[in-house]
Amino acid sequence: MEDCVFCKIAAGEIPAEKVYEDDLVCAFKDLSPQAPVHVLVIPKAHYGSVTDGVPAETLKAMFDAVAEVARTTGVDATGFRCIANTGADAGQTVPHAHIHVLGGAPLGESLA
Ligand code: C5P
Repeated sequence: MEDCVFCKIAAGEIPAEKVYEDDLVCAFKDLSPQAPVHVLVIPKAHYGSVTDGVPAETLKAMFDAVAEVARTTGVDATGFRCIANTGADAGQTVPHAHIHVLGGAPLGESLA
């Protein structure tokens, strides 16, 4: 989608530190990390949020990528949090579906 920052990251038009990529999804380090490990997993195609008609195959690919990121960053051993802010009250700032993967330290009550 034109003017979508995450579409541009997926297409390689805006730089991001990608840590995982396949045909359907990519994952990159959050520009403003809220934890020692803070990675965003996004579909390459544009959906406004995780509840905006993302096909089942793509949702599965997103969660497979979460598992892969957790494994490669090591947080699978210590625990991590997945957050999908959806809509204004949740504080979603980028209207392209994404899952935050947060870990690397005790997260307490923080909600990224
Ligand atoms: O869930 P929410 O929409 O608030 O999260 C968007 C996230 O995207 C923020 O954590 C922000 O730091 C991140 N971001 C990024 N790179 C960009 C634009 C936003 O990592 N170019």
